[in-house]
Amino acid sequence: MRTDFGEAEEVEAIVDTVCRMIDSGRYERFAVEARRGTPVALRDQFDAAQGHVDSGLRRAAAMLSARGQLDSVSAAPRWVLRLVLRSTATWLLGAGSTCPHDPSPERPQPVVTAAWRPDLITCARCTHLLALVPGSAADRTCDSCSRVTSGLRDDGVFPGAFALGPVQLMLGVCRDCRWTT
Ligand SMILES: [Zn+2]
Ligand SMILES: [Zn+2]
Repeated sequence: MRTDFGEAEEVEAIVDTVCRMIDSGRYERFAVEARRGTPVALRDQFDAAQGHVDSGLRRAAAMLSARGQLDSVSAAPRWVLRLVLRSTATWLLGAGSTCPHDPSPERPQPVVTAAWRPDLITCARCTHLLALVPGSAADRTCDSCSRVTSGLRDDGVFPGAFALGPVQLMLGVCRDCRWTT
């Protein structure tokens, strides 16, 4: 068993494990158990679950099920789901940064992050910290395929948002990467 798990690896392990649970149809049961705070018997089935990852997983599952949004996990493209899970796990592990109001997973409230700043979580009042300079290359970059669009009317970035539990992810995609739910 590895013992040198770094924060980035812990985050990826949580993201991978939640995605595997969703794919195997076990996520909902896991989330229910996690929410009850009972020992999670299922965790042994997932090789990534250990130490911090265990508690991160349980907290992520409890948080994501807190608002009855389990349905939404399959509604978005996988890359969007991974992004919001990555931001959530980073926040849960205390590995990222927050706005000055220090939103904490211990005090659930709506928080916001962005595809281009997945390590930053802000409260609802501080979304300006996530803003990109209008018209800049970053502002015109698709968060899915990384293409820098021209920004012209038929070739711009379409803003979008995806919420999972209390965490709302802002993103922008080019015309080829838009999806419908
Ligand atoms: Zn704030
Ligand atoms: Zn794209």
